[in-house]
Amino acid sequence: MIRENIRNVAIIAHVDHGKTTLVDEMLKQSGTFRSNERVEERVMDSNDLEKERGITILSKNTSIMYNDVKINVVDTPGHADFGGEVERIMQMVDGVLLLVDAYEGPMPQTKFVLRKALESGLKPIVVVNKIDRPEARTPEVLDKVLDLFIELDADDAQLDFPVIYASAKNGIAKYEIKEADQDMTPLFDMIIKEVPAPEGILEDGLQLRISSIDYDKYVGRIGIGKIRRGSIKKNQEVVLCVADGTFKKFRVSKLYTYEGLKKEETEEAQFGEIVALAGNDEINIGETICSTEKVEPLPFIKIDEPTIAMTFIVNNSPYAGREGKFVTSRHLKDRLEKELLSNVSLRVEETDSADSFKVSGRGELHLSILIENMRREGYELSVSRPEVILKKIDGKTCEPMEQVTIDVPEEYMGVVIETLGQRKGEMTNMVTNANGSVKLEFNIPARGLIGYRSQFMTDTRGNGIMNHIFAGYTSHKGEIPTRTKGSLVAFETGTAVAYGLFGAQDRGNLFIGPNTEVYEGMIVGENARAGDIIVNVCKRKQLTNVRASGSDDAVKLVPIMPMSLEQALEFIAEDELVEVTPESIRLRKKILD
Ligand code: GDP
Repeated sequence: MIRENIRNVAIIAHVDHGKTTLVDEMLKQSGTFRSNERVEERVMDSNDLEKERGITILSKNTSIMYNDVKINVVDTPGHADFGGEVERIMQMVDGVLLLVDAYEGPMPQTKFVLRKALESGLKPIVVVNKIDRPEARTPEVLDKVLDLFIELDADDAQLDFPVIYASAKNGIAKYEIKEADQDMTPLFDMIIKEVPAPEGILEDGLQLRISSIDYDKYVGRIGIGKIRRGSIKKNQEVVLCVADGTFKKFRVSKLYTYEGLKKEETEEAQFGEIVALAGNDEINIGETICSTEKVEPLPFIKIDEPTIAMTFIVNNSPYAGREGKFVTSRHLKDRLEKELLSNVSLRVEETDSADSFKVSGRGELHLSILIENMRREGYELSVSRPEVILKKIDGKTCEPMEQVTIDVPEEYMGVVIETLGQRKGEMTNMVTNANGSVKLEFNIPARGLIGYRSQFMTDTRGNGIMNHIFAGYTSHKGEIPTRTKGSLVAFETGTAVAYGLFGAQDRGNLFIGPNTEVYEGMIVGENARAGDIIVNVCKRKQLTNVRASGSDDAVKLVPIMPMSLEQALEFIAEDELVEVTPESIRLRKKILD
């Protein structure tokens, strides 16, 4: 059976290309609002912070009734992906709208999401918006879209994308740029024609996978997802299939579908519909809800693990709280617990102190958005510096790795490669895009990304785009993750090998400056500490530009000199701190070979 009266689409747009205006206009023209009701608020981007940072963080659902067809429009995060959200959205929809400014063209920020959409086999409808702009250059923009699709390995059907020309601001959409202006009808018709209607068997047992979580203080935790199979009723007894393979029965206490911008209670919903439901306060992303008669969980969608932790501390200095309102540890705890209800890749742990909590998330941006939001709400808190979350696997200490994708104009490529190299990133791929920008991929320890985003913005003058996804744990080939006193650590690069001897001091950093000729992109960098001895065993050139940062007084700089490996080892062995570990021997052998 095909449900001809439903379409599920995700919308992908760069910030400011007109997503909010377009969705507002669709709502208005479809009559989803009663005539006396106005779209007062901006529809999808309700979070100020998202606007400010040029990213959309939370996915939201809007539904539009057009000629008896319900079009569910799911917003996608435009930039950062905290916990696989984009993938989950792509599994809820049957098509995507790619909205592009008729002057600016497709922006690299949307590439990540678009790639996921194409990989999920979804066919995009390209909406070229702002065709009324005097400087619009629609044909070039369409060429750019095509280039982008080719670059992202779109299949033939995807390359043959339908196009709608729009001026969302003026409520206009058309099939051909030269056509006379009309209302949004062509866009509605195109969605109905091009986006497949959901197909399934109504009589089959219920199957619904939870794609996102919401929270309502009256009904509790709410799971949102698309019904894959069968139907669901309010008060129905259902089975929740949990990640560990166990099942829990519960009764659906509330069932909602989306109408316009709101959730509306409903008695029943059928496959193909996006619903929200309450009744189990432990419900989580990736879990499947089934009928009691036919329990068949869908594969779980993985949620990326938290990799960075910060300690949040109640700020109870006598000077705190003059502007802020929430200052007790109880307030902080309650607020964090509330956040946990819908922020799926966040973890909160108590610490030895009642006034502080360890909060772990998917990177610095993820945590800094939470901190910023809390501060705006009036919470007075101090936070510690971020640190990576290490994990013991088979007795070895392992650290989290991230796969970073970067898009930059060519002129900034050098600085990015160099800086990420110093941060122990390993470049795994480099592609020049049709528009002259470059896509770079790196594998990098999560700690290498700490503090990098702001540097990246400065280095690329705001023209670069960076995304990262969790790439597993590693127990280091050329490095020892946690520095031990006196251990010998070798750093390798394509051109050089240097040894760092870690001394007892724990203050200050010693690093090789980025201008060093031989050591362009060298990775001795940040992990070296005060008292370190860096010995250059590369015979080719002397290291220059070695300097100390941090508390210089604690730094014992040893002259850097070119020498053979044997000399270097002797030199190191003279220092009483040296403790040669099996790992260092292995590394030495490797270098000698
Ligand atoms: P969003 O960030 O993608 O949600 O973009 P908005 O809908 O907030 O629009 C960003 C800006 O572009 C606003 O100032 C809109 O008025 C303007 N805008 C939206 N659609 C059009 C359009 O079709 N033509 C022109 N000229 N401006 C538009």
